[in-house]
Amino acid sequence: MVVQAKTVAGGASARTLDNQIARAGTEPSETGVVVVGAGFSGTIAAIQLRRHLPVTQNVYLTERSGSFARGVAFAHTTTAHLLNVRAANMSAFADDPGHFERWLGTQGAQFPEEQLRTAAGTFATRRLYGKYLEATLHSEIAVSGGKVELLTEEVLALEAPLEAGEDGHLLRCRGGRTIAAQAVVLATGNLPAHRPCDDVEFHDPWTPKALTGLDPHAPVIIVGTGLTMVDLVLALHTQGFRGPIIALSRRGLVPQPHEAVGPSWPAPVFSDAASGSVLRLMQAIRAELRAAAAQNIGWRAVIDSLRPLTAKLWRGLPAAERARFLRHIRPYWDIHRHRTAPPAAELLNRLRANGTLRIIRGRVAEVRRGPGLAEVIYNECPAGVGKSLAAQRVIYATGLQGVRDSGGLVAALLASGQARLDGQGLGLDVTQTLGVIDSHGKTARNLWALGPIVRGVFWECLAVPDIRLQADQLARELALAMAEEAAAF
Ligand SMILES: Cc1cc2nc3c(=O)[nH]c(=O)nc-3n(C[C@H](O)[C@H](O)[C@H](O)COP(=O)(O)OP(=O)(O)OC[C@H]3O[C@@H](n4cnc5c(N)ncnc54)[C@H](O)[C@@H]3O)c2cc1C
Repeated sequence: MVVQAKTVAGGASARTLDNQIARAGTEPSETGVVVVGAGFSGTIAAIQLRRHLPVTQNVYLTERSGSFARGVAFAHTTTAHLLNVRAANMSAFADDPGHFERWLGTQGAQFPEEQLRTAAGTFATRRLYGKYLEATLHSEIAVSGGKVELLTEEVLALEAPLEAGEDGHLLRCRGGRTIAAQAVVLATGNLPAHRPCDDVEFHDPWTPKALTGLDPHAPVIIVGTGLTMVDLVLALHTQGFRGPIIALSRRGLVPQPHEAVGPSWPAPVFSDAASGSVLRLMQAIRAELRAAAAQNIGWRAVIDSLRPLTAKLWRGLPAAERARFLRHIRPYWDIHRHRTAPPAAELLNRLRANGTLRIIRGRVAEVRRGPGLAEVIYNECPAGVGKSLAAQRVIYATGLQGVRDSGGLVAALLASGQARLDGQGLGLDVTQTLGVIDSHGKTARNLWALGPIVRGVFWECLAVPDIRLQADQLARELALAMAEEAAAF
């Protein structure tokens, strides 16, 4: 679908026409809200916006890849990677927790091999979840009578409307098109757009090329031992790779598996003193763990009990304490908080037991390149002894990076001062109601953001159960702001 009424091929010479079309499109009943990025965050934000805005309001969902309702996590891949969250907790809607499970039982039933029932619950594949998201989006498009429209476009920059006093944004797209929008929602994820890859070193672990053209018996090195490493190992194994896999990280910590759901643990109440210091918080959490253990309740229930508190606790930490958490605690937090599906954990254990997979504690010092070969020089942790390993390929699975060097729209917004980094440089700074904050510390008008791109502000907004809440909140706030503006006008 194409938004003829609001877009125009252009460049500088088409600016007058842009202006006319943009003007024609700024009637509240005509123009819409534009969501940039159609991964999980953008897709659910578009659906929630459609539900909260007046029925006449169009919502446009733009996606540069042309693949809507997928994103990196739920892309259509050849490998049946499993979700790392139980199906019971993967509904796209917080107010309808059974939505995904019902879909699995109806449309999803034709893919029984994509749903694994384990003692810890049902785990669907990520590509099946992508189908669910697509189906959910298309159902909303149908119900709304086409008021959600899909645009295959990469948005490069946001410009102010050409006429003084006008609200909204003009979105400049890579192909030269301009889109007029009353409000813009950024849902671009926080993976850098351009990550260097060649035949030997792959900084983008998600590109299919990272695992193609391999000698099935020569070593592969993965830098990082988190969930991305787990995915890569499973994909290598599934495609018949039988050579040594060496995964390297400073602490060598590997994500813990899910277990059968047991009794829950009540959310703790932390004192003000504990809330302001990472050290005291860790002491308080250890006390909770001991108290739970005394009642035969495991650590998983305690970690899960922290989930509704995490954003508030993160917000309460001074910047230096957040930095301390990122430096020292994050690896331990991540492996307990973000767990693997049991079948993935079992395969990993088997490959470790038979020596195919080695987890090494080390910090990469240098990668020396030869033809079709890399020598990774690393310092063993904690001893610091220098060692080296040779491999046909080195894949970096070091997790989410800050957006500073992400390129594209986010870099343009930061460079122009329309947005600023959060205190840790992990993503964009936003208000508690998800309004983007500019370089002067002011809340930008009609510009919003959600999902991992705002993780520096909320910390706990990476996974579906958290992003769906944000999407609902954002849609309510945006609808309210637009209604207030319309009333003031
Ligand atoms: C591999 C992986 C597995 C995961 N597994 C789970 C899981 O099992 N359960 C769970 O709850 N969570 C999981 N997560 C976490 C969570 O689901 C993701 O963080 C979430 O899907 C992020 O969605 P997003 O839309 O914000 O970002 P992305 O998925 O990165 O999507 C952003 C989209 O924006 C597009 N885009 C970017 N810039 C532009 C632009 N300028 N113009 C147009 N389009 C643009 C991109 O092409 C992309 O499609 C996983 C994450 C990853 C990476």
